[in-house]
Amino acid sequence: MQTVFNRIESSRRPEEAVYDETVLAGDGWMHQLRPGQVLRIVDLEGNQAADTIFYDADNPEDHYSAVATIAAQGNVYLTAGSVLRAESGKPLVEIVADTCGRHDTVGGSCSAQSNTVRYAHEKLHMHNCRDTFMLQLSKQQDVRYTKRDLAPNVNFFMNVPLSEDGGLTFADGISSPGTYVELKAIAHTMVLISNCPQLNNPCNAYNPTPVRVLIWNQ
Ligand SMILES: [Zn+2]
Repeated sequence: MQTVFNRIESSRRPEEAVYDETVLAGDGWMHQLRPGQVLRIVDLEGNQAADTIFYDADNPEDHYSAVATIAAQGNVYLTAGSVLRAESGKPLVEIVADTCGRHDTVGGSCSAQSNTVRYAHEKLHMHNCRDTFMLQLSKQQDVRYTKRDLAPNVNFFMNVPLSEDGGLTFADGISSPGTYVELKAIAHTMVLISNCPQLNNPCNAYNPTPVRVLIWNQ
């Protein structure tokens, strides 16, 4: 299978961003984007995975759908030009720049349950993305955001190649220090990130590291 990477750089300058924060390894982040705003996620040290869910902020029940996104673009991987869609098919954000070239949206996020199934029962108590998502949702003080809507997500900077027979492999990261992805909001969109704390597979090179999030008004 041939691998095509579609790397597109951005001309936006960090000093012109209206928001600039670092999300530490294992931490979460939740923030609304207005239509037209642009979010950049930077993999500061490389080989990190930023598990991300999107919600229609006007109707959070309509959350990101990997199936709707993949079906509409006819490609299982996400990169520049990909439009990320909600369950209803509504476009939420578009990837407008990407220096990584490929992001997974099939592998899902890690949880206590998947850690025990994939690795070992004593992994049950390890910090995982699902816990981070739940903590961020509970801090919102907005009853429209519930754990019921946690299933599908994007794994930015994560390399999960699909094999010819339809299997998944958690491969070494293809992201290097300073690699970024930029998303332009099409709709009023809530973004929820778990900066993955996973220590049991190479998605973080066994060493979770910080990501930087910047927002521009256009
Ligand atoms: Zn994770």
